[in-house]
Amino acid sequence: MAHCLRLLILILALTGTVVMASGAYALLVVQSGDTLGAIAQRYAISVDDLIEFNRLSSTSLHPGDLLKVPYVAAMGGIAESDPLPPPGFRWHILQPGETISSLMVRYNLSLAAIVGANPGISSLDRLPVGLELLIPPGEGMMVALEPEQTVLDLVKIYGVSPVALARANQIGSPADLRPGQLLFLPGVTPRHALDRLAEVRERENTYIWPVHGRLTSFFGPRRLGMGTSNFHSGLDIAAPTGTPVVAARAGTVTFAGWSNRGFGNLVKIRHAGGAETWYAHFSRILVTVGQQVRQGEVVGRIGSTGISTGPHLHFEVHEGGRPHDPLRFLR
Ligand SMILES: [Zn+2]
Repeated sequence: MAHCLRLLILILALTGTVVMASGAYALLVVQSGDTLGAIAQRYAISVDDLIEFNRLSSTSLHPGDLLKVPYVAAMGGIAESDPLPPPGFRWHILQPGETISSLMVRYNLSLAAIVGANPGISSLDRLPVGLELLIPPGEGMMVALEPEQTVLDLVKIYGVSPVALARANQIGSPADLRPGQLLFLPGVTPRHALDRLAEVRERENTYIWPVHGRLTSFFGPRRLGMGTSNFHSGLDIAAPTGTPVVAARAGTVTFAGWSNRGFGNLVKIRHAGGAETWYAHFSRILVTVGQQVRQGEVVGRIGSTGISTGPHLHFEVHEGGRPHDPLRFLR
């Protein structure tokens, strides 16, 4: 019957693992003019089965009602291919220098949209080059349909509209869905992922001591005697020559070599958000420009090169393009 074509097959909820899983059904939105008889005929089941399956107390349907239509033998089994993203998504392979921020600009997407399409990422600031990220068509959240989970569950949990969900995922056939399939929940904010990533960012953006030792000179104006003074733009930490010095934060080495400004062997590391840390007077430099370093990774050894009165680390923290007191950042 032509009327039957007006039925919108929204959702197939698989509850079992193989064909004929009991409880498998399509979820339909009842349209104006639909009857139980028409639906039953369309899906080759009895009206009684429809009534029983939906625990209906009456045979009258109302437009907008959700109706489960059991699928008994309609499916060909559950495919085992890798989950594919819904239509409208693109893959982006992260290139050197690219960040979540640059993807937001490039694709004109919000942070929530990018996180929503990739809720499993480990960090906003330290993703590895070559990582494959999904670029969504808009805001929403990606979920993988779990075994025993029905799409109706997702509708209830996330408050997403069944119609919007069906449209975004182009669910048109009962065989379309299977456990593990990626489903895009349009308009849903990935709150848990955003909260988790904010915590990660907080942790990642804290500074650790690059080396432990006696603090021999603090940040700020410094008297040099004879009535002269200068501004000490870092913190001096004394330690024996050769002591390893580690990156205070993860980042990318932007300078590694001899400084003509009295710093001797100098390493600069640029961090997420544009901050930099400087490490001066090294006896040995153990990184090269362009190298990505983790927080805590050894970048050089204590020395007394350049203008220095003894083995120590001169440590600077730059934010907004100027040096700040490192003790503000170290705990
Ligand atoms: Zn110094």
